[in-house]
Amino acid sequence: MLEVVDVGTQSIAAYAASAGAEAVEELRALAAPLRGARVLHLNATPYGGGVAEILRSQIPLLRDLGLAADWCIIRGDEVFFRVTKKIHNGLQGAPEPLTADEQEIYRAISARNAAHLDRDYDLIVVHDPQPLALRHYRADHGRHATRWIWRCHIDTSEPNPTVWQFLLPYLDGYDAAVFTLGAFVPPDFPAVRVDVIPPAIDPESPKNLDLDPGLARRVLQWIGVEVDKPLITQVSRFDPWKDPLGVIDGYRLIRREVPDLQLALVGSMALDDPQAWEIYRQIQAAAAADPGIHVFTNLTGVSNLEVNAFQRLSDVIVQKSIREGFGLVVSEALWKGTPVVAGKVGGIPLQMPKGIGGFLVDSIEAYAERTLWLLRHPEEGKALAELGRARVRQRFLLPRLLADELRLYADLLGGGQAAVVRDPVCGRSLEPGTGVETRVGDVVLRFCSENCRRMFLVAQDSYAWAACGPEGAPPASQHE
Ligand code: UDP
Repeated sequence: MLEVVDVGTQSIAAYAASAGAEAVEELRALAAPLRGARVLHLNATPYGGGVAEILRSQIPLLRDLGLAADWCIIRGDEVFFRVTKKIHNGLQGAPEPLTADEQEIYRAISARNAAHLDRDYDLIVVHDPQPLALRHYRADHGRHATRWIWRCHIDTSEPNPTVWQFLLPYLDGYDAAVFTLGAFVPPDFPAVRVDVIPPAIDPESPKNLDLDPGLARRVLQWIGVEVDKPLITQVSRFDPWKDPLGVIDGYRLIRREVPDLQLALVGSMALDDPQAWEIYRQIQAAAAADPGIHVFTNLTGVSNLEVNAFQRLSDVIVQKSIREGFGLVVSEALWKGTPVVAGKVGGIPLQMPKGIGGFLVDSIEAYAERTLWLLRHPEEGKALAELGRARVRQRFLLPRLLADELRLYADLLGGGQAAVVRDPVCGRSLEPGTGVETRVGDVVLRFCSENCRRMFLVAQDSYAWAACGPEGAPPASQHE
C-alpha cells in the first residue's frame, strides 16, 4: 500500500457562507450520482506547495459528499526527487536534458511505487509529473476498469523537448488530462480528453479563515517582525521560478525611498523539492547583514497561521514569479484584502486582470516601482485588493473547483457521455443547439448570449482557458 495522507473532516455546509448556498446545493447534486465512487488522488508530498494545499482541503469534502476518496503519496529518496524536480523544471522550459541514469531512476522508482498501488479504485487522479508513470507500470489484471486522470499544475506550454519526449509514452492509458490554462497544453499533446480547470483556495482552511488583526499582529511580533514598520512579503517554495533573489533586489531599490521597509520571504520545504535547500542558501547569502530581510520556513515553525497573518498584515504581497502554474498565493492574499504585485506569467493574470487586485510586472524595476506606489497609496491599494477579493469569491474558491472536477468524474465514470458545454465567460451550461458561436483559431466557442460573446472578444486574455475548447470553463457567473 502506498503511504496514505491523513486528513481531518470537513462539512460542505460550512461553505455556504463564503461561496453561497447555491454552490453547495449544486455540489450535492453533482456528487449524488457519484456516491460511493472510489477515488484516489496521488501526488509526491503531503505538505509544501499548492498541490498538497488543495488536496488537504479537497479530500475531506469529497468524503463529506459521499465519495470514497483517498490521498496517497509516492515514496522516493532524494536522488529520485532530484530527477523529478529536473523533470518539473524541464516541463517549464529549463534546457537541461535528463541523463540515461536519471531516466532509469525515474522508471525504477515509478515501477516500485506502482507495485504498492494495490487497492482498486474507480478513478485515479495523478498530480504532476512525479507519479505520472505509475499508470504505465500498474498491473491492472483486468479486474477493474479504473479511469485515470493526469492533473498537470505547471506551465507546460513550452516544455524542454527532450524531457517532454521522455514523458510522452507514460501518458498512454490516461483517460483525461486537466490543465490550469488552455495555453499550457503542449502542442503535440496526445488526443485524450483535455479539460481546463483552474485551481482554487479554501476559504475555510486555517490559512484563509478570518483572523483577528490583534491576534495576527501578535503572531508576527512573536516571530520577529516589526508590525508598525512597512512590510512586503513573498510566500513561496524556495524555487528559482519564484525568483526570490529578484525579490531581494527589488526590495533594495524600494528601500532607497522607504528606509524602514521590511521584506519577509516565507518559504516551505516540500518533501519532493531538494532544490529548495540550494535556493535557501542563496537567499541567506543575499540577505546577510540586512536586518530588514526576514527569512522563514515551515521547518522553523512558520505554518498556516503565520502565513495567514503575513498575507493579512503585509502592505503588499509580492509574487515575482518568472514561470508559474497558477499561484494560489495570489488568491490567498486577495481574499484577505491585501494588494499584490506579481509576475505577469502563468495563471496569475487570470486572477488579476488589469485593474484588479494590484499590478502585473515583468521586471525588477517595475516590481519595485509598483510596490512603492502601493506603499504610498494604501487606500488605492485596498480598493484594488477588494476588487481582487470579489474575483476570488466568484471564480477561485474551492466549491467551484470541486464542481468542475465532479463533472469530469461523472463524465468519465458514466461511460464517456458528452462533456458539458459551458459558456467560457459566465460558466452557464448550454443545451445542445442553444447560444451563439464564435471561432477562435481552431476552436469553436459557444456563449449563452451576444453579451457574453462580446465580453469574451474584448477581454480574451482573461479567458485564456477557453483556448482549449468550450469544455472546462469555470462556472463563476458574470450575471450574478
Ligand atoms: N505555502 C505555505 N508556506 C510557505 C510557502 C508556501 O504554506 O512557506 C503555501 C502557500 O500558502 C500556497 C502554496 O504553499 O498555498 C503554494 O502554492 P502556489 O500555487 O502559490 O505555488 P506552488 O508551490 O504550487 O508552485
